[in-house]
Formats: sequence, C-alpha cells, structure tokens
Amino acid sequence: MVLANPHFQKLPSQYLFPRIAKEAALLKEKKPESRIINLGTGDIKEPLVPSIVTALCDAALEMGETKSFKGYGPSQGYFFLQELIALHDYPFLHIHPDEIFISDGAKCDSANIQDILDPKSLVALADPSYPVYVDASLMTGKKIVFLPCTEENGFCPKPPNRHVDLIYLASPNNPTGVAMTKEALEPWIYYAKRESAILIFDAAYEAFITGSCPHSIYEIEGAREVAIEIRSYSKSAGFTGLRCSYMVIPKTLILPLHPLWMRRTDTKFNGVSYIIQKAAAATYSEQGKKELSAQINRYQANTATFRTYLNQLGLTTFGGIDAPYIWCKTPPNFSSWQFFELLLHQAHILTTPGAGFGPCGEGYVRFFAIEEPSEAMKRLSALSLRT
Ligand code: PLP
Repeated sequence: MVLANPHFQKLPSQYLFPRIAKEAALLKEKKPESRIINLGTGDIKEPLVPSIVTALCDAALEMGETKSFKGYGPSQGYFFLQELIALHDYPFLHIHPDEIFISDGAKCDSANIQDILDPKSLVALADPSYPVYVDASLMTGKKIVFLPCTEENGFCPKPPNRHVDLIYLASPNNPTGVAMTKEALEPWIYYAKRESAILIFDAAYEAFITGSCPHSIYEIEGAREVAIEIRSYSKSAGFTGLRCSYMVIPKTLILPLHPLWMRRTDTKFNGVSYIIQKAAAATYSEQGKKELSAQINRYQANTATFRTYLNQLGLTTFGGIDAPYIWCKTPPNFSSWQFFELLLHQAHILTTPGAGFGPCGEGYVRFFAIEEPSEAMKRLSALSLRT
C-alpha cells in the first residue's frame, strides 16, 4: 500500500499565512464593506520600477525574434546575471559567478537546500523565525534545536552549547526585523568551523539595512568555508510576483556542497526564465539602482513613521530600522492571537500574530509596514490603545 511521507504529520495543519488570510476572508464575508489594510503578509506595495518594466518588455520582444529567441537556459542561471551579481553584490568578497545559482525564490532555496544534507542532520534555528525553516526541516525528518530570541538577548540567536549540523540565520530577521552585527555573527563562524557545521544565511532583506550591520555573511572572515548565502529580488526590487533570487554556494566549503547542488539543480530545475533574469539584471543598471534606492527609501520612511506612531501610542516596538518588519509587544493581558483579532476586527488591520513564528513570538505581533501609514494610524487612534 502506498503511504504518505510520515514526516508531514509533524507539521501544523496549515502554513501560517494562509491561516491569517483565511481570518481576513472570513471578516470580509461577514462585513463586505470592510477595507482591510494588509500589514500581515510581507508582500510588496509599489509597482515595478520603469527600468524593470522596460527590461521585461525588451526581453519579451527578443523572445519573438528567430535570432534572439531562447529555449531552455542553463539550469544554474545565465552568466550575464551571475556576473552582475558577483560584481555588484559582492565587490571585494571574492565570490565567483560560478558559485551563484539563480533561482525562483529564497523560499524554495531555503527549504530545498535540505535535500543535499543528511536527513539525520540536527538543525538549529531562531525562535521566532521564518516558518519555512521549521516546516522544511520537519518535512525532511530532521530534528530541530530552537535558539530563543528574546528582548533580553536583543533578538539575536547565540551559538548553542551543543553540536548542531545546520544553522539557519536570517539577518535582518523576519519576523523581529532585527539585523545582526558583525560582533554577533563572528561567533557563528567560529562555531560552524569548530563543529564542522554549515550555516544558511538568509539575507532576503539586506537592501533595507540602514546602519553598519553586514549585508553579507562573507564580510565575516572564514565564512567562505562554512556559509551559504541566500538573497532575493522579492523585497529589494518588487519581484514577489516575478520570482527571482539566488544562492551562493562557495566552492571552498568544508563540505563540498557545490557539486551536489549543481547535480540537484540539473535534475530538478530548468532555470529561471530568460525574461525574468533580464529583469533582475536591470536592477544593476545605473537607472535601475537609482529607481530602486528611491523605492526602498520610501518604504523605509513609511516604516519609520509607523514605528514612531506605535511608540506614541505607548506600544513597545523592536526592529523596523534595518527591515520593513516591526515587532510589536502586545498590550498587557493580550496574547498574540488576541491582539491580532482585536486589530483585525476593530480596526480592520491585518497583522501576523508573533506566536505563529514560534513560542518566543508569544506576546508580539508583526507589522509589515511599508505602505503609507496615515489610514492605519487613524484607525489605531480610534482604538485608543494607549497603555
Ligand atoms: N526569506 C525570508 C526571511 C523571508 O521573509 C521571505 C519572504 O517573506 C523569503 C525568504 C521568501 O523570499 P522569496 O519571495 O524570494 O521566495
């Protein structure tokens, strides 16, 4: 008799975001006139910038001409994009284009990388963290060590006093919005080397860093031996619908994962479409950089305004400086889900309950605050949340 993968029984019955979307849909069903402000799902708000739209159109036209039509591309990605990434995203960090794998999402990469690791590997990850890391570990039958991230430790995971094989670190972190400093990252590289462990560094939000925190794990000495880095165009360039990201797997890792990932990629992936890779390439043009930097600045300004406003209401917040996420403490006597319900039903503002990201997220809600916040602020004022 055919059997389902038994590891799936260890998962929560539903992924976090469909669950909160369902709550919003139920409200809409009951009150069709409600205009819900979505500060829950981490989706982008502005349309694509003109340079990217032009690149998409030009590439589509190329596909309609015999001389420039492209069929299957290289599964690892086109060299033109790998070369631009190495040049612009890793100047002086000695990343070779051939170490870069272009993909259709940081979500898939951060989960799929587990395919090439021993199913018995012990995984360490932050609590709270992006739910994909937990679910992907459970789906592949791995055991997890949770690293509590609390107000006391500044929401920065510290290396555990035991061996683990694989570590997920996201900086800036989702959901706390906190970025790790060089001093906080260095012990992880020492740890990974000492324990012969591999670190997956998810830098999906690096474009939002305002201060001096590292944008890349390869800024830390020794990282080329133990760290894989993931980046995405989703939030930095509005590609949540287009889909493009990349993963850096150095050929110098202590465990030679580059050939294994190449082997997996050749078997299971036929590459990101040419049109989308051309659009990603446009993010590195002078005009593209200018437009995207202005877009990120607008998002950052909105996040800052909203964070200040939450503080004026007497709410305690973290993050929101190096990331578009604000990690907000719930008012006294409110659990994460209770505050989520209050905001949804009384202000029609969708957030994400912190407890959905792990037990240490209890007592918080996450705001993804990149849109112009005046309407949300008006609605919060009406709630009289002053604590
Ligand atoms: N990594 C983190 C930490 C995220 O928060 C997200 C999306 O919210 C992703 C990866 C997914 O990125 P992508 O759209 O490239 O799949």
